Amino acid sequence: MESTNKNQQVCILGAGPGGASAALVLAQMGIPTLLIDKAVFPRDKICGDALSGKVAAVMRQITPDMPKSFSAETMQIPSYGIRFFAPNGKELRVPFSLKNPAEMEVPPGFIAKRYDFDHYLIQQIKQNELIELRENTEVVDYQKTTQGYTLTCKDGSSVTATLLLVADGAHSKFARHHAGIEMENDHYSAGLRAYYEGVSGMDNQNFIELHFIKEALPGYFWIFPLPNNQANVGLGILSKTVSEKRLNIKKMMQDIIDHHPIISERFKHAKVVDSIKGYGLPLGSKKRKISGDHYMLLGDAASLIDPFTGEGIGNAMLCGLAAARVAKSALEQNDFSADFLQQYDNEVNRKLGAELALSTKMQRLVNYPWLFNFVVNKANRNKTLAETISCMFDDVDLRKKLKSPGFYWKLFWD
Ligand SMILES: Cc1cc2nc3c(=O)[nH]c(=O)nc-3n(C[C@H](O)[C@H](O)[C@H](O)COP(=O)(O)OP(=O)(O)OC[C@H]3O[C@@H](n4cnc5c(N)ncnc54)[C@H](O)[C@@H]3O)c2cc1C
Repeated sequence: MESTNKNQQVCILGAGPGGASAALVLAQMGIPTLLIDKAVFPRDKICGDALSGKVAAVMRQITPDMPKSFSAETMQIPSYGIRFFAPNGKELRVPFSLKNPAEMEVPPGFIAKRYDFDHYLIQQIKQNELIELRENTEVVDYQKTTQGYTLTCKDGSSVTATLLLVADGAHSKFARHHAGIEMENDHYSAGLRAYYEGVSGMDNQNFIELHFIKEALPGYFWIFPLPNNQANVGLGILSKTVSEKRLNIKKMMQDIIDHHPIISERFKHAKVVDSIKGYGLPLGSKKRKISGDHYMLLGDAASLIDPFTGEGIGNAMLCGLAAARVAKSALEQNDFSADFLQQYDNEVNRKLGAELALSTKMQRLVNYPWLFNFVVNKANRNKTLAETISCMFDDVDLRKKLKSPGFYWKLFWD
């Protein structure tokens, strides 16, 4: 590390999907940034590795042909839907889109190991001369100054930034100590992930599988297909449930794989590629203040993971887009005050607020296994309901139906 102190107008902390997207969008606007990460890429990130349509949509806004270049250059597989398994074991297959896969320019979803997905983003960053990427640089301290923030790194170097975009993930010290974001068991999930090879019964259209097992509600056990006959296997459970029921979730996950009456059969000839590892999921089931004087919080640092699906990559990238736009106006107006940056909160809320509120309701509904069983049974017999659920992935207004008592009333008599 050659320089010991650097002045930088915009500094981005964390080069995961949130920070990387912000840097790429700012570069497109002609704005230089310093992007700092403690890791050296490519690196692993514990995750389910599922990339929704939202990810491709943000990529398209960064560069129109990015989804295509990503799918051509990165080890990934396309995914066309979800298999829900209700607590009674019944399955509901829900395609992400009603369009014919052959007519789609880009598949509606992808699954790519984060090792490969994040590396793809970093390669785009490295080709961009407006972005200075500093890897292997851990920020250990933050001091507020009248002009912004001074960051101190573990290697002794420091950076003075006028505007700080904080995208350092679920364990963000800045979010906790400078932005007042607490870790609350009601709004936080514990997540475990392992990689397996040779799990049988995988879907021929690479549908991802969510198994809502009674003991894990409102969380779920998942099996997501990956290239080379591998699968991302995991378990996510609300931290409140873990602490109230004193669950040993690592043991619980292993028990599901070894002893669950249906699932264990599929692991009979499977081999572990990478053993069970855990990481936190800060959920967006509570609205929080995500900007302040001279800073904005992005992605997991802002606690914006979908509380029903566990999706956080697309939301982090949407934050990157919104933060870049607000950063541009802040630079133009030379105003980095909390009042000015409030428009970032407004923008993120406009993009994600309704969806997160709805997912919070759905997370609560899933707590009732009988209701879940009932909807899955019905949808298997009723094509219109199955198609409505499918369209819900694209249409938040349709998802609103799920929280209306009238929806269930009609189902009873339909
Ligand atoms: C078990 C599990 C399963 C999940 N499954 C899915 C899924 O299938 N699909 C989905 O969309 N989402 C999923 N998520 C959520 C998803 O992983 C996150 O929402 C997403 O990674 C958030 O991106 P981010 O850019 O905010 O943070 P991150 O991806 O966590 O990136 C943060 C970056 O900051 C760096 N950093 C941290 N601290 C410092 C520091 N002090 N100094 C310098 N650098 C630092 C890190 O090295 C890292 O590169 C899952 C999460 C978990 C835990």
